[in-house]
Amino acid sequence: MQDLNRRRFFAGLLAGTALAGAAGINARANRTQAVIVGGGPAGAAAALALREAHPANPVLLVERDPRRLGPVEQASFDRPSAGPDLSTLRRAGVEVVLDDVMGLDWRAARLNLFSGRRLAFDSLLLAPGTAALAEPIPGLDAVARHLWPAAWGNAREARRLRAQLAALPEDGHVVLRLPAELSHPDAALGRAVQIATLLDRTRPDSRFTVLEAGMSSDLSQRFRRRLDAKGVRTRSEWRTGQTGGNVLRVDARNGMLETDGGLLRADVVNFVGLQGAGTIARAAGLSDASGWCPVDARGRSLIRPEAVILGDARKDAKRHVADAVLSGRRVAAFT
Ligand SMILES: Cc1cc2nc3c(=O)[nH]c(=O)nc-3n(C[C@H](O)[C@H](O)[C@H](O)COP(=O)(O)OP(=O)(O)OC[C@H]3O[C@@H](n4cnc5c(N)ncnc54)[C@H](O)[C@@H]3O)c2cc1C
Repeated sequence: MQDLNRRRFFAGLLAGTALAGAAGINARANRTQAVIVGGGPAGAAAALALREAHPANPVLLVERDPRRLGPVEQASFDRPSAGPDLSTLRRAGVEVVLDDVMGLDWRAARLNLFSGRRLAFDSLLLAPGTAALAEPIPGLDAVARHLWPAAWGNAREARRLRAQLAALPEDGHVVLRLPAELSHPDAALGRAVQIATLLDRTRPDSRFTVLEAGMSSDLSQRFRRRLDAKGVRTRSEWRTGQTGGNVLRVDARNGMLETDGGLLRADVVNFVGLQGAGTIARAAGLSDASGWCPVDARGRSLIRPEAVILGDARKDAKRHVADAVLSGRRVAAFT
């Protein structure tokens, strides 16, 4: 039954992609009213709100991850689902394009898609969420990021992390690395509690270390309180930037992390990198030195007022689902 649903879903997506391909061609002739990049909570909410507010205007939503809009159950280390699924969006008249936006041509008002197609827009709304920024940590290369998945909004990495934890030796050591500036502090705390709870249940002889590069976080106390409340007894240590939590160098192939508190060896590392606005927003020149997109109260970019930024990518976003949805819904009032 689940397989059938899955098949139907992907068949639906293919049909949608073909439809949207046609819409893209029309768009070149007539110009699409609104194009939204990103089908997470912010982008999906904006698409529905725009259709409701202006039923005569076409809305096109581009999402690269088919799971995001599908009937897929959430598993551990996944971020929350987008909310409205593909059929809800379709019923509301939103055209969904399953593709990856690779670039943006401001002069021609066009998006360049991974498939090679181009999509013209009249108004552009970007809701690409977050993505890891480069960090000057020696050894933190593409191989290290593969071996030590962040699983921070990436379903494939979440699967890899689950598999690595399932294969952990009985007395293994798990490290969760958190960057100095946390994009989603509550999700970071949730991740630490989730791992500690899993280890308590499945590997009572294992050890867990959190390396938080931040200097003054209260997360470690909240972590302790949560574990106590749940009766979780995993051997765990939370280091901050003041107590050796800063990672200076890594050797992922040998499971080694050099910190300012000494050398650590780990069997599984969940290495959460420093986050900024989704890559396409940064590539399009919409972020400032912080890596986030500065916007006005309505979400309009302070760098390029012709673009609206929604959800987590905004510089002052609260970065939880309710705030992302609110930013999407609000957009209909002024677009
Ligand atoms: C691990 C984790 C756990 C979390 N847990 C919670 C929680 O329990 N409760 C809570 O309220 N919040 C939680 N959050 C925060 C919440 O997930 C976000 O605030 C929310 O998803 C932001 O919505 P968004 O639409 O801005 O971005 P996202 O949800 O990140 O969606 C962005 C979408 O854009 C797509 N996209 C990006 N670039 C492109 C491109 N170039 N082309 C096409 N598509 C693109 C992505 O595939 C993605 O689907 C968590 C976050 C993380 C990382």
